[in-house]
Amino acid sequence: MFWREVVASLYAWDLLDEGVEHILDVLERDTRINSTYLVALMHDEKRPLTDFYYPHNPKRKVYWTEDSRAYWMPSPEAYAHSRIKPLTSDNPELQGHDWLQELIDASRRRGMTVGAELSHTWVDKARTRGELADIVQRDIYGRPFEGQVCVNHPDVRVYGVALYVDLASHYDIDFVQTCLRGFHPGRGQPWASSTSPELQRLTGVTLGGCFCEHCRAAAERQGVDWGAMVSRLRWIADGYDRYNHRQAFELNLLWQSSTTSTALLAEMPELYQFLSLRNRAITSFFQEIYGAVHKIKPTIDVRLNHFAAYPELMGIDLRAVGQFMDSVRSSDYAEQSGDPARMEWKRAYLHSVRRAIGIDKYFLSAISPRPKATPELVKRGILISAQCGADALTIGHYDGAWPDCLRAIGEGLDEAGIVIDRNAPVWGGRAAFEQVSRS
Ligand SMILES: [Zn+2]
Repeated sequence: MFWREVVASLYAWDLLDEGVEHILDVLERDTRINSTYLVALMHDEKRPLTDFYYPHNPKRKVYWTEDSRAYWMPSPEAYAHSRIKPLTSDNPELQGHDWLQELIDASRRRGMTVGAELSHTWVDKARTRGELADIVQRDIYGRPFEGQVCVNHPDVRVYGVALYVDLASHYDIDFVQTCLRGFHPGRGQPWASSTSPELQRLTGVTLGGCFCEHCRAAAERQGVDWGAMVSRLRWIADGYDRYNHRQAFELNLLWQSSTTSTALLAEMPELYQFLSLRNRAITSFFQEIYGAVHKIKPTIDVRLNHFAAYPELMGIDLRAVGQFMDSVRSSDYAEQSGDPARMEWKRAYLHSVRRAIGIDKYFLSAISPRPKATPELVKRGILISAQCGADALTIGHYDGAWPDCLRAIGEGLDEAGIVIDRNAPVWGGRAAFEQVSRS
């Protein structure tokens, strides 16, 4: 079988600490990468994420990222019409240097493709607590979800388009990828004992986002009776507070009953209406971005980094959004759970993505070489990805990877009989088999 790419993600401070040439040497040798991307707009997160300390960073044990900073040089004119501007680093070690350009230059010298990621949050919390307080999502009581912007806000739309257009027009990149958090999913985790966690996730959406004035306006433009919908959802949301005794009684009765999520949606069209409104908002947001960025650079690959276990709770209808994506990256990192049983979740997740985006869309499957992954689980993940119709592999993430698990990527590709060839057909299955048979 042929896969077109093995892709590695890198951070600005990885390049600072380890040197881009060393990193690419290791990744080419051990994992066969022929593509890289910089997490160019990175949210507030301790690195490495899944372990206490870095396994191979020679300069530091941990790195505390700044909140939602850009590690390229944003062009002011790209944001001339945007009230929101990207914030660059205040870290003296990182500021004033174009880390995206550094990765592009080093990757191109090796004939690699290269991209940029706009990660989970695009605006820092300091500003969304202050001057940009109006752009974040609101819960049903009007309380803000800080750092989680609302895609129905016109200023967020303008900013989103500006980010993509800035990157695509000023940098020699092949793809722009995002894992922007969609709508706040509310109380996704089971809250009280219930016969159905799925039902609890569904009722929990009423505590999510977004109920801001821009969402109201978008709903009303679509002919939805916003007041009636919110009032119905409010009954469920109020039930999470036991001092709202009638609502709490009914909600608990629902959870302890054999009523299914399907039954609840059928009896409560307002709940389905709310889910649909959120889906349409995110789809149209990406549609706008897709049109704008392709106008600037028709060859650009607009890529979704799909991380949500339950995208329907975040307003992501993958089938609809997929129309406005050139490729989709599954962000499933089951290997790092250390649990072999979890690998079947990976298989099911990959099937969900493929089912939604169709068999022709370029589909990358992620592998995690981070603790508690083992070489065996990494190899298993590669095999499952191949069995699930992936077109390429993507590694998440180098910074926290132990060497044995990095080496397992190259070995796993060999053992699965997967050849990395950029010119391979998009679908590496039958066509590739015939190609091999002929040669
Ligand atoms: Zn909103």
